[in-house]
Amino acid sequence: MSGGGPKLRFCPESNDLLYPKEDKERKVLVYFCRSCPYQEDADPSDWCVYRNEVHHTSREKSVVLQDVRSDPTLPRTRDVRCPQCANNEAVFFTASTEEGMTLFLNCCNCGHRWRDYV
Ligand SMILES: [Zn+2]
Ligand SMILES: [Zn+2]
Repeated sequence: MSGGGPKLRFCPESNDLLYPKEDKERKVLVYFCRSCPYQEDADPSDWCVYRNEVHHTSREKSVVLQDVRSDPTLPRTRDVRCPQCANNEAVFFTASTEEGMTLFLNCCNCGHRWRDYV
């Protein structure tokens, strides 16, 4: 076997295709089988592929680095309390992160930004 691109891996127990996922406790990439409990560590070269894909699909950084206080298209709420300055008005928006869709709040007074896990 040679050539570029991600290699497909198959479960030695059930012959099913293995899927990559991040082991959040150990912070490594593993391949797991959807049909049985089999799981193996990925080798480090696969990590690069995985990280590039994550970087590609995550637009969180560009969204989160912007100051959205002056964006008129974003909804506002007066039903919050800024953890930094206790102001109760904030702009809110959702962004796709590694944890899924996350609600962000951006204080209209001090610009502090925080996440709201609902
Ligand atoms: Zn299996
Ligand atoms: Zn604030």
